[in-house]
Amino acid sequence: MIRPEPGELQELVRELHRQGSPWLPAGLASRLDWGAPVAPCTVVSCGALSGIREHSPGDFTVTVGAGTPLEELQEALAPHRQWLAIDPPFATGSSAVPGLGSGQPTAPGQGHGSIGGLVARGLAGGYRERYLGVRDQLIGLRLLRADGVEAMAGGKVVKNVAGYDLMRLLCGSWGSLGLITEVTLRTLPLPPQRRGLLLSGPVAALMAWSSALLRSGITPERLDLWSPALAAAAGQEPAPLLVVGLASVSAANLEAQMAVLDESLGGSGESAEAGAGGVSMRSCGARELATLLTWGRQAQPVLPAPADAGAASITPNPDSEPAAWLLRLGVSPDRGADLLAHPLLAERPVNLAAGSGLALAWADAGLQPERVQELRLHCRELGGHLTVLRRPAGADPAGAAALPAWEDAPSRLMIEAIKARFDPKRQLAPGRLPGVARPDLAPA
Ligand SMILES: Cc1cc2nc3c(=O)[nH]c(=O)nc-3n(C[C@H](O)[C@H](O)[C@H](O)COP(=O)(O)OP(=O)(O)OC[C@H]3O[C@@H](n4cnc5c(N)ncnc54)[C@H](O)[C@@H]3O)c2cc1C
Repeated sequence: MIRPEPGELQELVRELHRQGSPWLPAGLASRLDWGAPVAPCTVVSCGALSGIREHSPGDFTVTVGAGTPLEELQEALAPHRQWLAIDPPFATGSSAVPGLGSGQPTAPGQGHGSIGGLVARGLAGGYRERYLGVRDQLIGLRLLRADGVEAMAGGKVVKNVAGYDLMRLLCGSWGSLGLITEVTLRTLPLPPQRRGLLLSGPVAALMAWSSALLRSGITPERLDLWSPALAAAAGQEPAPLLVVGLASVSAANLEAQMAVLDESLGGSGESAEAGAGGVSMRSCGARELATLLTWGRQAQPVLPAPADAGAASITPNPDSEPAAWLLRLGVSPDRGADLLAHPLLAERPVNLAAGSGLALAWADAGLQPERVQELRLHCRELGGHLTVLRRPAGADPAGAAALPAWEDAPSRLMIEAIKARFDPKRQLAPGRLPGVARPDLAPA
């Protein structure tokens, strides 16, 4: 991997273009191998493009070099009582939570990665329920095209006159269209009041409850439905668990939200006794919720449940191995219960965003690619899709070819046409093009 200084980057990209050499744009290289495999090539890290270039607290915007680590940006925003409303990526070791500072348990895993990598992957977690995804928080970016020409999309202010929406094209491009060098994002005020609600009960009842919540006018920060295995890995009862994050500007408003939710459960709330539909509920403070979420992100099937269930002081098992498979599943939001009922998921850690129908599932190396394909077909039947974010290390290349990271999107031809315009020599991220199952590898 090469990590050029900012002043050297453009000339390097021009030279690679002159030679027609294949290369992969990279950030901090924390998750380079995830997703579709890339053919051997030069990895060009933009790690040296680090630091905040401009922060306008009054305008709620921030411009950073693409190599800036996500946690560094969150730390810099916190004194201004602002944050980037984005979860840390999965399998993150550090557990710093905006607004809650340090003191959270740390667990083995990778760093948060860079802002450029975050935008290039375009993935989001549970906060999406209230704050939408990364692409919705993106205001502008700069990039180097495959030929080394610098380009700009969007701007630095929230209200922008748009031309072609180039920046959203780059969001989720996985390094296949260009090297992002600078990113401008929307920041948000840190919510002064936060609280969690943990509901336990049958999946169908929890789904019905979350639908009622979404109709109630309350906008939770997250509405994550955890499978029994994920709940157990996070030190909770091995039963379906709905993790609700609430936030508000005032304690009184938060109490009012709690009262509405308690009533919808037939007044059983704080007692943690089973109420309507066999659902029991207990509330928890912001710190306990943050700890639980850290564990949820780490979920590893081999991990034994911590002894001190539910306590905020649980410590991770340093010997645990990361799960071999990480699958991203998407179904129509009203089919979430059907997804969780699939036999392949019944015993595995799954985190389903109940509002959007997007889920993450972890699995051990024993899960065969054919079974993953079976799950993919099931997701398709439920109106969705399956993406292989990570597969077991050393997986058989033939198996990988038979089970592409993603399937062809309906817009495949358009994606290929865009790729041809951005990268006519097919140099970037050879073999990896989101929305195209088997991209053409031959040099154009
Ligand atoms: C809730 C949540 C969950 C996530 N889960 C996952 C997950 O399961 N797997 C996963 O891989 N990511 C996930 N992400 C995305 C994650 O943020 C990025 O993978 C991470 O930021 C990578 O950072 P990095 O700097 O180490 O990038 P790298 O590991 O260096 O690169 C990651 C990818 O981004 C591309 N890339 C990186 N920097 C640039 C750039 N400057 N210009 C163009 N392309 C670039 C690379 O080509 C590569 O495809 C998640 C994000 C969130 C918010």
